[in-house]
Amino acid sequence: MGSAVGDALALPFEGMSAWRRKRMFGPVNGHRFLFGHGMFSDDTEHACMVAQCLLRSDGTPGSFERHFARSLRWWLLALPAGIGKATLRACVKLLLGFPPARSGVRSAGNGPAMRSAVLGVLFGSNESLLGDFVRVSTRITHTDPLAEEGALLVAQAARCLCESAELPGDDSGMTPYSPQFVGAIESLRNSLAANQCTTDFSRDLGSRRGVSGFIVPTVAVALHAALSAKDYRGAILATVECGGDTDTVAAIAGALAGIRFGADSIPKDWIDGIVDYPLSPDRIELIAARLADRFSGKNAAAGPVRIPRLPVLLRNLFFLTLVLLHGFRRMLPPY
Ligand SMILES: [Mg+2]
Repeated sequence: MGSAVGDALALPFEGMSAWRRKRMFGPVNGHRFLFGHGMFSDDTEHACMVAQCLLRSDGTPGSFERHFARSLRWWLLALPAGIGKATLRACVKLLLGFPPARSGVRSAGNGPAMRSAVLGVLFGSNESLLGDFVRVSTRITHTDPLAEEGALLVAQAARCLCESAELPGDDSGMTPYSPQFVGAIESLRNSLAANQCTTDFSRDLGSRRGVSGFIVPTVAVALHAALSAKDYRGAILATVECGGDTDTVAAIAGALAGIRFGADSIPKDWIDGIVDYPLSPDRIELIAARLADRFSGKNAAAGPVRIPRLPVLLRNLFFLTLVLLHGFRRMLPPY
């Protein structure tokens, strides 16, 4: 829910510089997608797909992979708007019959990071199993090693935040290994220690015109927002302030801030302001509850939540229209 609400709130500002967003929208403190209401984008859909596939699977990475490949094929057939280039190519390959082990394309986009927090929460106590699930979830669309590392860092952070509200120390929890991520996480630690604000951190990282869709700055800025904020609301608004790929950064920061501050910290008016169907906040809560039941052992038979297919297609056509209208609106002043 933390991820979904962050995605919905930040979606209208995706791809805009912070400067332009301020000119067009002024200060942001609530939904701006559809007359004060919000809708979900691919970030929420992917996180929910991962959750649903875990509920469908027998608990092994192989079974999860088969279900996830099937879900991605159906997802593409329902004409999702705002799909990332690498994810689009991978989904087309899946539709053409490529197996999930060969569907991924060489890209270090941020797609895999937006769906990995839930894996960290469920499998974080078992490092090798977590690695297997993150690998499967990542490589089905993205094969660049940085994509897998970024997704794993988000999962590890999610796991660490289940136990402590602080950033894990150098020796435990989060273990970057590529020079890019080692540098970014070191900058993150220094910035947090210096009480730097997230916008300044993002700018110092080189994201002058907003956080790009490259996984390294996305993960670093999302972690910074979640770890430096005083509450959930502050974490999401910090990601909006940075500009760029706001919905994905907010979705990741929202997942982590939701864990750090608890489900009750998610503003009720932000949840109530979401008008989406058939994947509604109620269904997301149900998916989360079933995951908790299944993986805590309370109800080993807990299955996926039924989401009707035809309404998804109609909803996506409506959503695509709104996305296009937002696009046209951006061509108009103020510049
Ligand atoms: Mg999105």
